[in-house]
Amino acid sequence: MDSIPTPTQTSRQGPIQVPASMTDQRTSPAGNASPETMRALIKHHAGEGLALDERRPVPEVGPLDVLIRVKKAGICGTDRHIWQWDDWAASRIPVGIVTGHEFVGVIEHTGSAVTQFTKGQRVSAEGHITAGIDYNSRTGNAHIARDTKILGVDRDGIFADFVSVPESNVWPVHDDIPDRVAATFDPLGNAVHTVMAAGVSAKSVLVSGVGIIGLMGVTVARAAGASRIFCTDINPPRLALARKLGAVEAYDSSQGDHWIKDIRSATRGEGVDVLLEMSGAPTAIDEGFRALRNGGRAALLGLPAKPVTFDFNANIIFKGCEVLGINGRRMWETWYQMEELLLGKRIQLDDIITHEFPIEQYEKAFDTMISGEGIKVLMSL
Ligand code: ZN
Repeated sequence: MDSIPTPTQTSRQGPIQVPASMTDQRTSPAGNASPETMRALIKHHAGEGLALDERRPVPEVGPLDVLIRVKKAGICGTDRHIWQWDDWAASRIPVGIVTGHEFVGVIEHTGSAVTQFTKGQRVSAEGHITAGIDYNSRTGNAHIARDTKILGVDRDGIFADFVSVPESNVWPVHDDIPDRVAATFDPLGNAVHTVMAAGVSAKSVLVSGVGIIGLMGVTVARAAGASRIFCTDINPPRLALARKLGAVEAYDSSQGDHWIKDIRSATRGEGVDVLLEMSGAPTAIDEGFRALRNGGRAALLGLPAKPVTFDFNANIIFKGCEVLGINGRRMWETWYQMEELLLGKRIQLDDIITHEFPIEQYEKAFDTMISGEGIKVLMSL
């Protein structure tokens, strides 16, 4: 899924725990036979929270599917929307679904027609699943396929001991990439896709919004050769981290838009070459475009919560800028780029992946993420 607005503190009710039966033989798939039930975090009702179902049936595996035993899972802004059950979640998420889409795991079982993968392989998966038959899937743009179904959004996801995905969506994880990093391929891929689509080499860049993907965008833009990176956000600790990751200036945009003038004077009066919009906040979008030079390029990943009012004349038409909508990750170009950046140790994620909890402590994990105390919060299974 894509980026999300900066986390805000919310109050919430505790979710309902689904009790396990006393006789439940819960998952540890140590024996030869795979278990029939598993733990799974499900959207159990049309309201706030999630529930841990300890007896969810293990998903079925079709001939072309792979069953993956999940080891680590990341909590995404999308999962926060699903937890909070906002308008977007209420309109999109089927009640009863297993949530989550960012993960790393090990192949438990392969379907009868699977040829590329074997049991025991360490893998992640592209969470956007397409039948591969529409125009874009057949012309190298499967990330914007018309029939895309998203793990943990449209079909059962990965906050569970097991997930079943088509072989064609599975990504083998390189031995030198640790689990905690591989669990973040999905959001890291959003950042890599945005940066690479914009093209940042020897360019001045503004990263508008330094939440999880914005921070990743800073370290990726630096690795991709951005000459100078500027950032904005309303969260001072995140701004400090953005500086640590390579931003030359990080502005608190809650203090007004004077920083646009500062950016202009630092860029020959022109504005930045590239805008990477990661916030989805209407004010930040407008300010980001105002800080972009004429003829610059804007790559938009942040999702506004609802339709926004926007000055097309000043911000796009007279500015003569290019605007790119960024969705998902290119299959599989973005994944190869991610792997290269990680193997080359060109990007720094240690300060971004801040917490890890066992899945039984999912309330604490979500609270840590939603409160903004943690940045990328993982759950282990
Ligand atoms: Zn995500």
